[in-house]
Amino acid sequence: MNCPYDNCQNNDINSRQQYCQSCYQPIFFCKQCNQPNRNYAVYCTNCGKNIPPNKYDCLSFKGGLQRTNLNHFKIAKNFDECSVTPQKTIQLDSACISILVYNYYLFLFSFKGEIRIINLLNNMQQVQRFNADDKIYADPAISEGTLYVGTRRSISAYSIPAILSEENISTEPRWTIPLQNNEVPMKAMVPIGERLYFNIKINSQYQKICAINNIKTGNPDPIIQINAGPGVSSIAGNWSEKSKKIFFFSETKNNITLHTADHRENKSPKIVSKTIHNAPSGCDFRIPIASIGRKVFVTFKHKETLYRIDSDTGDLDQKICENVKEYALANANSAFVVNSKGLYFHGTSRQQIDLSKQRLSVKIAPYILNNCAVLAGLQNGTVQIYNYFNPTSYPKNWDISDRDNVAITSLVAYQNILIAGNQEGTVKLAYWD
Ligand SMILES: [Zn+2]
Ligand SMILES: [Zn+2]
Repeated sequence: MNCPYDNCQNNDINSRQQYCQSCYQPIFFCKQCNQPNRNYAVYCTNCGKNIPPNKYDCLSFKGGLQRTNLNHFKIAKNFDECSVTPQKTIQLDSACISILVYNYYLFLFSFKGEIRIINLLNNMQQVQRFNADDKIYADPAISEGTLYVGTRRSISAYSIPAILSEENISTEPRWTIPLQNNEVPMKAMVPIGERLYFNIKINSQYQKICAINNIKTGNPDPIIQINAGPGVSSIAGNWSEKSKKIFFFSETKNNITLHTADHRENKSPKIVSKTIHNAPSGCDFRIPIASIGRKVFVTFKHKETLYRIDSDTGDLDQKICENVKEYALANANSAFVVNSKGLYFHGTSRQQIDLSKQRLSVKIAPYILNNCAVLAGLQNGTVQIYNYFNPTSYPKNWDISDRDNVAITSLVAYQNILIAGNQEGTVKLAYWD
């Protein structure tokens, strides 16, 4: 079979290969007809079937739409048999604010707007580097071959096949929608089907949740306002064949409301709103919300307590932890929480790791390697790797900076590749095996 990429003459591809042995580009074989496709293809070039995203991809903030920071890849070895093998260092122009992975392509984003793309299959080689039009405040996201970036000035969509094309490279956005002067996109972009959701901050007293419809076309609709007020949360959701729901909270003087939009039927769905019963206090919307199935996770200001809420009833159904700063979820019953003392493991084992004695602190959410390890990015510039099943045992240490005390700002794992970036823009890649 022929290699699907332009400028590659290799006609000796077989379906066991993850990538072309000649041009080192990733290949996706259609499950329907076995046609080799470019790995960022959205539809099969032969039969037209939709090509699903790789389930290990990190397509948006916190690993995906659910914001759980969990990678489902199964590490074959036990924790004790694994070690960190450093592979590559990349230096961005400013703090590394976000890391995404899409079908073996790594996307790195700096605060000043630098975007770099690395082919993880081809010796971790850089394949593209360009700039967004301004500083990036909101976490970018990828959906169906398109990269969505919110800068201080605008929201833009970039075609990934065009960015990575060999013949007609274009790093110009497919479309750009300008924002008002006082509007800053915050938190994270959330593309769902035909619609892109995002948070806008006007000032500390007024925030909005907005959306753009028809994002897959070259000519999307103007920005619409979905909700606004003194308090609105980030956006989380589920995206599977059975469930296509997004969730967010809003807060007024008297009420905390959970809003649910079901995208199964309509690209501009009705939003159903439900008052939260027995809320202990207002919400701390600086901490992102998350969702798994019908369960939604939100932090209240009273003792900074993380709760699990049933989205069908609006009831608080589990209290998880107090003094929460950040968290990641392994499933609806297990959370790895950054709290004021250090790390708290909520689940079958309830264990607290006190990092304050060593004067260590964590500011960003942990990252979970399913069934193996939990990674914590520390303020002192190291990543500590804990045993998933025995977190209080001695962690393994991975140094990101050559200098002391440069805080880790981004942390992702893709299959068995660990990627961490810091405040000065140093990004390191390593194998965990
Ligand atoms: Zn090739
Ligand atoms: Zn096909």
